[in-house]
Amino acid sequence: MGEWDQEKKDVLVCAKWMSEHGYFGGYRGSGGNISVRIKNQPILAVTPSGRSYWNMTADDICVVNFDLKPLEGQFVPSKEAAMHVGIYKNRTDVNAVVHTHQTYASILAVIDESIPPLFDEETKEFGPVVESVAYAISGSEDLVQNVIKKLGNNCHCYILQNHGALNLGRDIDHAWKNTELLEKVSKIYYAALITGREIATLPQETIDYFNNMRKSS
Ligand SMILES: [Zn+2]
Repeated sequence: MGEWDQEKKDVLVCAKWMSEHGYFGGYRGSGGNISVRIKNQPILAVTPSGRSYWNMTADDICVVNFDLKPLEGQFVPSKEAAMHVGIYKNRTDVNAVVHTHQTYASILAVIDESIPPLFDEETKEFGPVVESVAYAISGSEDLVQNVIKKLGNNCHCYILQNHGALNLGRDIDHAWKNTELLEKVSKIYYAALITGREIATLPQETIDYFNNMRKSS
């Protein structure tokens, strides 16, 4: 057993599920990346760059420090690894990151639409808004900085303009659940938008109630 085997396995299991369920754009594609912070250390286990997930093994998952120096794994880490590090450095409440090219959130990404508070479960898990992060090319320092600028809202999901989605969690299980919930909420919001009807959002008391719950948990 290696020191980081559990974290590498957690990243692999989540990545395979996301790939099989279309969250990375295509089953044989590699659109998206996942990481887990190694507990109390400036180190992360992260998916490798440009490789399909369907035949990936735990040994293919990279372990790098916050300077992106490789510590374990034979492949180059995801080109978005700096974005994951930027999140861990700025959000101590986050220990797992799932970046996807999931379909319905990507529809909102191309119309640069943030999601307002529509459902109790959404507001409880994500926070009061799913904000859109300004576009910058994948893997760029500009994208890292654009993401960091939005992290102060303490929310757990973001739309990446013309790109996809970013789902955070206190552990891999929560980041995974948030990813699925974001797709459901995005699908409903998209369908609601195209009706052209007025969209009802949650009352402020409900938003405050869940904000207080999130702060105390
Ligand atoms: Zn991407």
